[in-house]
Amino acid sequence: MRSVEPEVFLVARPQLDYDQIAAYLREVGGESWLERLDRGDLDIDAQNLAEFAGRLCYRSWDPGLNPNVTRIRTEQDPYLQNILASAHGSVLEHASFTFVLHNISRVATHELVRHRPGTAVSQESLRFVRLADIPFWFPGWAKQDADLMKRATALLEQMEEFQRWMAGHFGLDDEGVKFSEKKHKTSFMRRFAPDGVATGLVWTANIRTLRHTIEARTDQGAEEEIRLVFGKIGELMRAEAPALFGDYTVTDGTWVPRWRKV
Ligand SMILES: Cc1cc2nc3c(=O)[nH]c(=O)nc-3n(C[C@H](O)[C@H](O)[C@H](O)COP(=O)(O)OP(=O)(O)OC[C@H]3O[C@@H](n4cnc5c(N)ncnc54)[C@H](O)[C@@H]3O)c2cc1C
Repeated sequence: MRSVEPEVFLVARPQLDYDQIAAYLREVGGESWLERLDRGDLDIDAQNLAEFAGRLCYRSWDPGLNPNVTRIRTEQDPYLQNILASAHGSVLEHASFTFVLHNISRVATHELVRHRPGTAVSQESLRFVRLADIPFWFPGWAKQDADLMKRATALLEQMEEFQRWMAGHFGLDDEGVKFSEKKHKTSFMRRFAPDGVATGLVWTANIRTLRHTIEARTDQGAEEEIRLVFGKIGELMRAEAPALFGDYTVTDGTWVPRWRKV
């Protein structure tokens, strides 16, 4: 048994092609928007993409471009706050972020994949990966319970021993065993792994989905491991796009947004 901690790695974020944006804006007379954007250290492509998509809806690059729009919010922060407040959330779907969720259990991944719109998932296949050394997360309170840990560790070691026995019994490491046969038997063997076995996946979600899942999965009623993972995702996103994740109040690990279900 290998004691592990769930970890979150943010591995991909949106990147804009400002030359193409400029070319488009020249077409519609909206170049002034790009000139106004702060392209310094604080420039955040995900926020710029959301703002770009929002402004395209009303041609609100500049007052007067659309005769119905006589005033515009020029600063990004209030502009995006208004997007959230008015639940114009579809513009947030253009920006996606990709995470590796490492050492998270099948308990947590099973809950995670219930969130469908705006997500993409690639999960480690336990039809291929052997489980002779079971990675397992214990919450802090469990680690402090010596009797519990003794019994839990013994149980996991027995499961590992059974995995090794099956691998030998099926002759999986014998010369010439076909890959399809290994896959067939490894797939059977995983049935004897615990739901808490730690595994990994690549998870991509757009900003609208991230806002909803951070709220749902850090709720007091949510399971403790997924709360931990989504607390980390919340922290990462608040740093990545403060104008779109800065409205949460965080109390005891529960993230409550000012604007819900945008
Ligand atoms: C604390 C907690 C306890 C839970 N307990 C259980 C349980 O005991 N058993 C169980 O089965 N599940 C349970 N769940 C899972 C829950 O029922 C949802 O399936 C899961 O949280 C996905 O969230 P979502 O429904 O918001 O859908 P998401 O896929 O995240 O979709 C986001 C939003 O899009 C809209 N949407 C998505 N799909 C549709 C659709 N087909 N039709 C209409 N609108 C749609 C909804 O507004 C939805 O809220 C639990 C979840 C939480 C957070």
